[in-house]
Amino acid sequence: MRIVFLGSPGVGKGVYAQLLAETYPWPHISTGHLLREEIQEGSIIGKKAESFMLQGKLVPDIIVIELLRKRLAESDAKNGFFLDGFPRTLEQARELDGITKIDKVINFEADEEKIVHRLAGRLTCEECGKIHHASTGLKEDDPCEACGSPIYRREDDHESKVRARLHEYENKTKPLIEYYLKMGKLVRIKHNEPIANSKEAFLAKVRPHLI
Ligand code: AMP
Repeated sequence: MRIVFLGSPGVGKGVYAQLLAETYPWPHISTGHLLREEIQEGSIIGKKAESFMLQGKLVPDIIVIELLRKRLAESDAKNGFFLDGFPRTLEQARELDGITKIDKVINFEADEEKIVHRLAGRLTCEECGKIHHASTGLKEDDPCEACGSPIYRREDDHESKVRARLHEYENKTKPLIEYYLKMGKLVRIKHNEPIANSKEAFLAKVRPHLI
């Protein structure tokens, strides 16, 4: 199945996508992760994208769409994927319709204070992108539980950047909910508990929509 995830930054999309990609035979594809890989590699694309990302702004479509098109053409994405971070605007949603057929769109929701808490403590693996949380006692430079590479606080997870990202989301991404609702593809899932102790409850909410 080809699934798109919507939801504000920090709602847990990345963590949910990781869990679902372990449970179902479809990869987790995150445009944010694809862009951060380009930055780490020091590519021309990465250099162009970096200044937008540091300001919490959206990277120009021409860059993101090209990266995504390439990733979706890889063999592991042939039968489905969990797409996280794209589309973020109506224009991107229309582009996506031209690239592939989407089966379902899950809009993840959580209470605002949970979102701020998640972002403030989020620690991301610099190699594989796995998300950890400072509330478990982990800190920057500790090894990733999945691959052993150091974990770090994303530059855009600092408070001032978080506000800019939430603002971008309100302005540009929220209209997508209406777009997919009209297409009859939208599913809403609200989940507040940390996934570490609520995996089964979370999967029970999602499972009925993935058949
Ligand atoms: P994320 O990892 O999804 O929180 O994305 C981190 C940053 O990457 C965003 O704040 C944007 O600067 C950039 N980005 C990710 N996906 C997109 C997209 N679909 N369109 C434009 N910029 C994006």
